[in-house]
Amino acid sequence: MNFLEERILKDGIVKKGNVLKVDSFLNHQMDISLFEQMGEEFRRRFEQEKIEKILTIEASGIGIACIVAKYFQVPVVFAKKAKSVNLEGELYIAEVESFTHKCRNQIIVSKKYLKQGEHILIIDDFLANGCALQGLISIVNEAGATVDGIGIAIEKGFQIGGRTIRNLGYHLESLAIIDKMDDETGTITFRPQK
Ligand code: 5GP
Repeated sequence: MNFLEERILKDGIVKKGNVLKVDSFLNHQMDISLFEQMGEEFRRRFEQEKIEKILTIEASGIGIACIVAKYFQVPVVFAKKAKSVNLEGELYIAEVESFTHKCRNQIIVSKKYLKQGEHILIIDDFLANGCALQGLISIVNEAGATVDGIGIAIEKGFQIGGRTIRNLGYHLESLAIIDKMDDETGTITFRPQK
């Protein structure tokens, strides 16, 4: 078992509706030492890729992406979820269905911060049905940049996102892949990894 799987077993809480709560260390209160271990591990797993920029999505991807960026020595851009008054100029926009909030959002990146030919690593906290990722990928494609890797902290392997993204040929690395979880017993089963 790796460091993240151990932490999920220790502090993760399985909720009804296939939701895993990890807000004591990942997406509300954040354990930066754990994020550093994640950064190191993503650096190792994407060693072969020439990453020039990290792209994530607000809000919970940002903390992880910033720490991961230290290990790649590259800037981070995050997709915004609502069009704020501060977003000016030309924009890339994609539609995304939210798993946790059960609604549709637009995600937006300014054309200033994503350029043709750039090599992008996408980072996010969770992969469930893959809607958030598909939105980020479509923005990278629209910019004429390339997705050289996708790093996810926790993949829910029993939902369709991981399979879909791997079938599309992307280099997807998830630090913990949950194959099964049960809210009545609290049991979590991980997919074995190398
Ligand atoms: P997807 O678009 O892959 O269906 O869902 C990904 C997004 O939904 C993630 O960015 C994450 O914020 C949220 N999410 C999906 N499943 C879970 C879950 O089990 N627990 C938590 N805390 N967030 C989740």
